[in-house]
Formats: sequence, C-alpha cells, structure tokens
Amino acid sequence: MTAIFSFRCTSCYNVHEGSPSFSFNAPFQYNALSDFEKSEAHLGSDLCYIEDDRFIRVCLEIPIIGVEQPFMWGVWVSLSQNNFERYRDTYEEPVETDEYFGWFCNVLPFYPDTLNLKTSVRPRIGNMRPYLLLEPTEHPLSMDFANGISIRRAQEIAEHVMHSS
Ligand SMILES: [Zn+2]
Repeated sequence: MTAIFSFRCTSCYNVHEGSPSFSFNAPFQYNALSDFEKSEAHLGSDLCYIEDDRFIRVCLEIPIIGVEQPFMWGVWVSLSQNNFERYRDTYEEPVETDEYFGWFCNVLPFYPDTLNLKTSVRPRIGNMRPYLLLEPTEHPLSMDFANGISIRRAQEIAEHVMHSS
C-alpha cells in the first residue's frame, strides 16, 4: 500500500499531495433556487430543507487501488421525511445498523450525469458523516465505487475537477 497519494499534475505541473477530496456545499436542488427561494430554505453544513424536501450531507468513498485513503466526494442525498427525522433524532448518537434510501443530489464533474442515482446511506459513529453506498449499476461512478479506481484514473479525475471549470 502506498500510504499517500501524490502526483505531478499534467495541468499545472505542481505536485498534488493526499488522496483527492472534493465537496459540495449544497445539494444541486438548492443551487438551482433563486435568491428569494434560498432565503426561504435552510442550508447547514449537514442538513438542508427546501419546502418538503430533505437533504443530508454524506461521504462517497471511491477506493484507490494500492492507496490507503480513498478518493472522497462530499455529496448530498435526499431522504424521505421519516428517514430524515430518524437521522436528525439520532444525529448525536448515530445507529450504525440504520440504513436509509437516498437519491443522489449532486452533479459530479468528470462522470456522466449522477443526479438521482439510487443510494443507500449508513450512519457512522465517531463524528463521521454517513457512508454512502451506490446501487450496483453500469453507471461509471457505481462501477468505480464497486471496483475501485487505479492511481492513474484517480489522477485523471482529480486533474479534471481541479482545473476544468
Ligand atoms: Zn494541478
């Protein structure tokens, strides 16, 4: 195992160190709101409400083959009202056997459209955001989640995210 992922970027020629980690501050649905609608909604670091829709922030971890730390995506999923309330009620003391269905609520760069992929959310103890599982499908993100990615692919994705916008 290579403990630390690092590579010389073909785009900016710097060495980027550490397994890549990218986060979204809000679900796609929130970013699509007008300023007025945003003022009526609630966005926190872990929870978001838009009218009757409920969202939570979770971690999608894509294993990098041969590297200890995974490629991390901080993303949002929507939950049913019941599951959202359960998550909120157990927020201080998460129950690790809980599992919630969630719809994927961000558009990841590099990949084909990721909005509304089916997911499963597993709360974690130890002040960690919930772990996200993706429904096994042919979608490249789902396949990367299931199979892991090579160091080369991790580099390719990270360069794309950091330098194309
Ligand atoms: Zn770079």
